[in-house]
Amino acid sequence: MLRVGLTGGIGAGKSTVSKVLAELGAVIVDADLIAREVVEPGTPGLAALVDAFGLGILHDDGSLNRPALAEEAFGSDDSRLLLNSILHPRIGARTAELVDGAPADGIVVQDIPLLVEGRMGAAFNLVVVVYVDQEERVRRLVELRGMPEADARARIAAQASDEQRRAAADVLLDNSGAPELIREQARALFEDRLLPFEANLRAGTAVSVPPIVRPSNPEWAAQGRRLVERLRLVCGDHAVRVDHVGSTAVAGLDSRDLIDIQITVKDLAAADALADPLAAAGFPRLADENRDSPRPAYGVGGEGDPGLWDKRTHGGADPGRPVHISLRVEGWPGQQFALLLRDWLNADEDARADFVAVKQSAVATAAENLHEDDAVTAYTEALAPWFDLGYQRAWAWAESTGWTPGD
Ligand code: ADP
Repeated sequence: MLRVGLTGGIGAGKSTVSKVLAELGAVIVDADLIAREVVEPGTPGLAALVDAFGLGILHDDGSLNRPALAEEAFGSDDSRLLLNSILHPRIGARTAELVDGAPADGIVVQDIPLLVEGRMGAAFNLVVVVYVDQEERVRRLVELRGMPEADARARIAAQASDEQRRAAADVLLDNSGAPELIREQARALFEDRLLPFEANLRAGTAVSVPPIVRPSNPEWAAQGRRLVERLRLVCGDHAVRVDHVGSTAVAGLDSRDLIDIQITVKDLAAADALADPLAAAGFPRLADENRDSPRPAYGVGGEGDPGLWDKRTHGGADPGRPVHISLRVEGWPGQQFALLLRDWLNADEDARADFVAVKQSAVATAAENLHEDDAVTAYTEALAPWFDLGYQRAWAWAESTGWTPGD
């Protein structure tokens, strides 16, 4: 099952997107609908609200009078907490029931207006944000939904900013144009990304990336941050730390379009305990443990037990965001070097320039291979001598600057 979080500011066109995805076969779980459902007349939820806030929160026909409840509940922090303690568990239970009821190969889209405000993004395989600028949203809410302008502005002001929503978005759907354009984007999202993502997730297939070096992409930093948050949630106490490492974590450095993440663990048993949870979250284990594994031939690492370079590797099932995850043991040379390399490259412009030149020549070498797997291996091997030297240079830099891995 693939779980997608769908959100957007009020009036952005979330409902339009959710309708298209439903038509294509997604299971929609609508947070607003559930929030109403759990306090319908006759529900234990409504009875609990009456117990807490009195009969004054009901209309004459016994249904919930929302403005009256708001008046009672938003008066103090205590009453707000009380309200949440009644609503949240019931909304959570009903949501879980609907999600669990979806088929094993389902694509579940949870439509949650306040997903960003509630910091829920990391719990989903993918977060989709529908975006329209504020003035156009006000115009649509007023002209098409008949909302008084002051209300529309007040509601927008009470929600997350566009910038916060952008930062949470794995996919940003721009609904500034005609309705047909957003429908087309939603269809393309479903067919080109959600369907293959779900199939990969179920089959335990990781997406691969050809050895082509792309110009540095300013989005990589935010993509890395979202992956780190997601992986922290999956790993919980099994991870000592989770970091965005590798070339995409170095500002301005051209790179393969592959986000490297390092999960630091206490020992390899902890890494193995994470194999299934990671796979279930869309990060299947890779068979070839040594791919993309720079292991210096000499120097500090080479002098020690070769076992000290062991790691476990996972890929990603999302065809829209290839990722390579290394699980390494805290304090082992490979774990330290991944953090050091990133920080050294960020600090040393000459090192970045050398590295890019070596990458370009590795791309040319790799291009002689017909098959992608062979090309990736050739690319990685062509980079190895640079890593040998880089290992020495990076540690020399660490010593001269007093670098530590931080936390
Ligand atoms: P949300 O669910 O995100 O609050 P809606 O889907 O209800 O937003 O969209 C707000 C209003 O704008 C609705 O009346 C909707 O029909 C309309 N709308 C949605 N997309 C477009 C568009 N591309 N052009 C014009 N109007 C649109």
